[in-house]
Amino acid sequence: MADPARIRDDFPILDREVDGEPLVYLDNAATTQTPTRVYDVFREYYEEYNANVHRGIHGLSHEASVAYEEAHERIAEFVGASGGLEEIVFTKNATEAMNLVAYGFGIEEFGPGDNVVVTEMEHHASLVTWQQVARRTGAEIRYVRVEEDGHLDMEHAAEVIDDDTRMLSVAHVSNVLGTINPVSDLADLAHDHGALLFLDGAQSVPNRPVDVEALDADFLAFSGHKMAGPTGIGALYGKRHLLERMEPFLYGGEMIRHVTFEGSTWNRPPWKFEAGTPPIAEGIALAAAADYLDEIGMERVAAHENDLAQYAMDRLSERDDVTVYGVPRGEERSGLVSFNVDGVHGHDLSSILNDRGIAVRAGDHCTQPLHDRLDIPGSVRASFYVYNTEREVDTLIDALENARERRDELVASDRFHDRFADHYRSPRNAGAIADPTFTKHSAETSCGDDGEFYVELGEDGTVAEIGFESESCAVSTAVASMVSEALTGEPIGRALEAETIVEELVDGRYPDLRRECVRGPAEVIAEAAREHLEEGEPAAVRTD
Ligand code: PMP
Repeated sequence: MADPARIRDDFPILDREVDGEPLVYLDNAATTQTPTRVYDVFREYYEEYNANVHRGIHGLSHEASVAYEEAHERIAEFVGASGGLEEIVFTKNATEAMNLVAYGFGIEEFGPGDNVVVTEMEHHASLVTWQQVARRTGAEIRYVRVEEDGHLDMEHAAEVIDDDTRMLSVAHVSNVLGTINPVSDLADLAHDHGALLFLDGAQSVPNRPVDVEALDADFLAFSGHKMAGPTGIGALYGKRHLLERMEPFLYGGEMIRHVTFEGSTWNRPPWKFEAGTPPIAEGIALAAAADYLDEIGMERVAAHENDLAQYAMDRLSERDDVTVYGVPRGEERSGLVSFNVDGVHGHDLSSILNDRGIAVRAGDHCTQPLHDRLDIPGSVRASFYVYNTEREVDTLIDALENARERRDELVASDRFHDRFADHYRSPRNAGAIADPTFTKHSAETSCGDDGEFYVELGEDGTVAEIGFESESCAVSTAVASMVSEALTGEPIGRALEAETIVEELVDGRYPDLRRECVRGPAEVIAEAAREHLEEGEPAAVRTD
């Protein structure tokens, strides 16, 4: 078992307070903290050998180039890539690594008749990317079902993967359900049909031993900032022959071998994919993060996270107002737990927890289709790393006590303008209306909450009636109520200024950290009005 007491000393940030409460950082699936020795790399680099790589015949450039190349070698070793440096491309993050394969391989090689298979539990980074490949190439996209217990339906996988499948793209570990997917089985399935396996390792490489060759993955993407490394760096592993076959996705310096006015030839991997000046210090720091994790031992990291997740599941199961999603208690999972507390929206719960110094994430975690599949607008996710403790889990569980009352107190507190409490307690215009002129669902905009506006216009283009249904947080619900009241009897064009209306109503006093919860519904109704006006009925709209 990892020893968090000792490990915590390496992370000074863990000693800080948030509004007078000791920080309990449980948002590690979004970004982990970085140990001193990793960010010391930046000081050392900038104090001692800051220079561009591969371009200078001088000492500093040589030192930087050697360190940067060694960092690739180190990362290759960390994920079991025996081909070394030539199989590791440094990118900005996991998302860019996926896009690199999407552009360099998918868009180049796929076409009508081909299909790409992803799963319902994919992060948007992979799901949206492959959707775009399908759209641009005419390939079909297919989704492997996720079962209620958080597992992939492997029978369904075997049905949807066929001889026309070119790529199977799977999250090694789900960032919501904690599921550790059976990669070797999936690799066999893909390879039996001549398809390739793209592994999204964003949640696995930081948290458990990953050996690309043992798993027989063709590609693997991951990010530095989730594995005790810095932001601004991620990596793509690709089997060497595939990287050689792939087209570059960015063009410019470094990635070329020979350039003439007639055309250019490409450098060898990985440089072929690292156009321009790369993230040098970040790459070297990523290797330092790999060293740090290897010293602890990735088996230990995984065991520690699983222990904490099991403990959290046990403690959460003591509460009858909590629903937990994903793989069942007792089964090995990665170090995260997603849940909801009855009657308390995740954003409100996050606010309440933040008041106790606890950082968690609430929302759809970039997996909207998965949340649709679970039939919930969002969830709260507590995610653990090697420095977290059972005591911190206890702090989280204690903070869930009386969550509804605390939410109500928060909304009524002097941290919120009185209007929020008033509209939240007595929402005006709540409920659907019959035969509206148009409706707008909030999930169609950036709000991320679940709600619907219904608008009935009079003949003169003014709002005759407006209603809304909301499964959103207290702040968003109050804003929907304020906006609906303010717009009644007004020209629909006034809805374009919905955010200004709210801002004036609350004298610019947005609740702490909840700007997006205010903006969400205001954007929804403004967007609805814009769409309606653009659809060609402006003549009916008064502008006075
Ligand atoms: N895939 C998964 C499973 C993730 O959890 C994340 C990050 N939340 C990503 C991909 C994207 O990572 P990044 O934002 O660092 O590119």
